[in-house]
Amino acid sequence: MSLKHLKLKHLLLPALLVCTGLGSAQTKPAGKLEMYFIDVEGGHASLYVGPTGESMLIDTGSPGERDVQRILDVAAAAGVKQIDHMLLTHYHSDHIGGLQELAKRIPIKHFIDHGESVEPKEQIPGFKAAYEEMYAKIPRTVVKPGDKINFAGVNVVVVTSVGKVIRTPIAGAPGAGKPNPECAGFVPRDESRVDPDNPQSVGIVMSIGKFRHVNLGDFTWNAEKELMCPNNPIGTVDLYLTSHHGIDQSGSPALVHALAPRVAVMHNSTRKGGAVQTMNTLYTSPGLENIWQLHWAYAAGTELNSPGLFIANPEDPATLAAVLTTPAGQGRGAGGRGAGHNTGPAFYIKASASADGSFTVTNTRNNFSKTYAARK
Ligand SMILES: [Zn+2]
Repeated sequence: MSLKHLKLKHLLLPALLVCTGLGSAQTKPAGKLEMYFIDVEGGHASLYVGPTGESMLIDTGSPGERDVQRILDVAAAAGVKQIDHMLLTHYHSDHIGGLQELAKRIPIKHFIDHGESVEPKEQIPGFKAAYEEMYAKIPRTVVKPGDKINFAGVNVVVVTSVGKVIRTPIAGAPGAGKPNPECAGFVPRDESRVDPDNPQSVGIVMSIGKFRHVNLGDFTWNAEKELMCPNNPIGTVDLYLTSHHGIDQSGSPALVHALAPRVAVMHNSTRKGGAVQTMNTLYTSPGLENIWQLHWAYAAGTELNSPGLFIANPEDPATLAAVLTTPAGQGRGAGGRGAGHNTGPAFYIKASASADGSFTVTNTRNNFSKTYAARK
């Protein structure tokens, strides 16, 4: 097949099936849950807009103007003028970094979190005091597993928080409460070097009708066993936001294979996430149809990265040129941590779900969309 054919086949056909893309979000289709996975370079910020227009932002990226502006740009594209629910999964700088500046530039109506950080040393000095000042004036809810969050037209169930997990299977969820066959082969990790606020993450299952989505923040590998074993309380989901940016401190088969998502969205950067373990677990997950990545990942290399159609931000040309012209042995190692690209346009991944369980995912870089039909 010629390159030309390949392009036509892959770009035109999906475009015919669904026509969505940049700039189309202002008119909100009735009855949909819109999800915007924002590129904050390996941090986390996901914006959700429910069928009534109510909004929830989960996390705020890293400190600095870059991520705040990207969140505000996406909010504007989504027609969001205030954050009705601001959920902070945990207190690491790649999640809370943008909050103080964001709060000055868009109204926030409600905070949700797991309570105090369990880490005495703040990753952002002064954050605790600044946050206390904010929630002295704005309602704040500290959640525990099993709690429901009032998000108009959308069901949100807290499944993890403050190091605890939901014990009662979610009522009516497909597969919830069933034994998890992946538990037998679970291999625990040494988590002595994992920052302790990660497994404190507020994790939620969000659903509209038959469509189900899970976002567990940076919930970690060993804690996943607590959540998913011996029985799976969540059941299966349609769209899984890869825990912990797709690094291999999270995303065990006991979690991923039992959730059996149809689609994974990874909020990685070029040098954070896309871990070999994580990618292999996804590729071997039953029923997984596609992995959508916010970035091409060095760790995943040619074999394990998704095709470019599914990647919102490939490496930027200047960095690629530098990589290609760096003498052997002098380049930065693949798979380590780093800032990734900082400048230039940043593209987000959008997903739009209907109550019948169908959903469409769009890469805003190339406007490639794919619709996943409702399960029969
Ligand atoms: Zn993180």
